[in-house]
Amino acid sequence: MTRAGATVNVEQQGKMYEGKAKIVYATSDPSLVIQYFKDDATAFNALKKGTIVGKGVVNNRMSAALFQRLAKTGVPTHYVRTLSDREMLCRRLDIIKIETIVRNVVAGSLAKRTGLEEGTPIAKPIVELYLKSDPLGDPMINADHVRMLKLATPAELAWIERMTLRINTVLRPYMLRRGLILVDFKLEFGRGPGRKLYLGDEISPDTCRLWDRATRQKLDKDRFRQDLGGVEDAYQEVYRRLVGEPVGA
Ligand code: C5P
Repeated sequence: MTRAGATVNVEQQGKMYEGKAKIVYATSDPSLVIQYFKDDATAFNALKKGTIVGKGVVNNRMSAALFQRLAKTGVPTHYVRTLSDREMLCRRLDIIKIETIVRNVVAGSLAKRTGLEEGTPIAKPIVELYLKSDPLGDPMINADHVRMLKLATPAELAWIERMTLRINTVLRPYMLRRGLILVDFKLEFGRGPGRKLYLGDEISPDTCRLWDRATRQKLDKDRFRQDLGGVEDAYQEVYRRLVGEPVGA
């Protein structure tokens, strides 16, 4: 394979990494990897474990649709092409160990930290940085910590924050038109060849809070975290609104 996106066959090779929700495989092209999306779900730093049937397919296909949409607006992403219901061909990135979170409405850890009521609107979107570290439980950090830990250069961090806000500006109205409030979401970025930065990971109901516009019903992983029931139906509903017909229909 000579060019990302070309139709030449790429062969899957050994497992490089297995995370909580995805497996990353090497391929015959050293610049490309395959992300395999599992149905496994974890919450509270893997203290709670379960399965959300069909989640891998929803997350793979929804991420692909949103990465393609973002690419059109000038956001470089690691997405190359969809290989199957659960497999995405991606550029191989050196992942930056920062989880970037954007918030439009108060929920989750922001409600806990500030005492503000869940659902309180946020006038200007908030960007937060967390250290990507399972043993430490992803603690919140700031730009000074990023510099001290040499996680990213100041220029890289500025680019990440600018891109994060652009992504929010693209996704928020797109989702609202489809009846979904984009409450908050998590992004990960990485370096490709020549240290060029790309958006990586996934954008799915595992990594976004999405509420129904009319009823404010939760349609994301909070249904699993909070034992609200109807988890699979919520994922299918998000898929239907953002991508198309329900998976398996
Ligand atoms: O828990 P918290 O309120 O900080 O989460 C903010 C957003 O980031 C939520 O949409 C959540 O699903 C996402 N998140 C994530 N992975 C983490 C932490 C948070 O996708 N490790």
